[in-house]
Amino acid sequence: MTTHKREVNAVIAYGSNVGDTRRYIQLALEMTANMPETILARHSALRSTFPVKVNATPTTMYSNAVALVSTTLEPLALLAQTQKIENQLGRVRTGFWSERTVDLDIILYGDLISWSPELIIPHPRVYWRDFVLSPACEIVPNMLIPTSQRTFAQTRTLMNWGFTSFPLVSQLIRRPGERLS
Ligand code: ATP
Ligand code: CA
Ligand code: CA
Repeated sequence: MTTHKREVNAVIAYGSNVGDTRRYIQLALEMTANMPETILARHSALRSTFPVKVNATPTTMYSNAVALVSTTLEPLALLAQTQKIENQLGRVRTGFWSERTVDLDIILYGDLISWSPELIIPHPRVYWRDFVLSPACEIVPNMLIPTSQRTFAQTRTLMNWGFTSFPLVSQLIRRPGERLS
């Protein structure tokens, strides 16, 4: 008997602020298209954004993009694949929010809401990051962020009005024994 794995639409965000940043994003997108059990459905245009701050030097611009993939990989397997791409493109982890040749964040995995130290979905900072919301609105404006029950487009509009959307409180309460699925 063959069992059919469930196909899930996942959203991945890409960022780079070292070296040829556009080239790194382009390579990461190509490597995403070659991931096992995964189809790269579409991706946004690449954009240049000012660094939010932290360890980046003032002159270092980021390149960013967002992709929609269809995958049968489980969430942690997808994370492993994205981290493999980061490693293959020479990312050295020097600390949180440090400079990076390439950073891949899983923003959404279908309508999954999940917390674990190594994987939080939806990405916990998606609600106020225009470098994610803007490219996401280009390719999947009507996709719902399950924790807030708002689409990318609604979330971005609210952010532009100065209202940050936050996850619904009920979605932040972790029920005992809840596991990453
Ligand atoms: P930010 O999460 O604010 O964008 P960052 O991307 O610079 O920061 P990293 O150093 O790349 O942070 O990631 C730290 C850890 O975050 C990773 O090792 C990974 O296990 C974990 N993580 C949790 N949720 C996610 C997610 N949705 N996508 C990718 N990594 C995640
Ligand atoms: Ca990130
Ligand atoms: Ca990351």
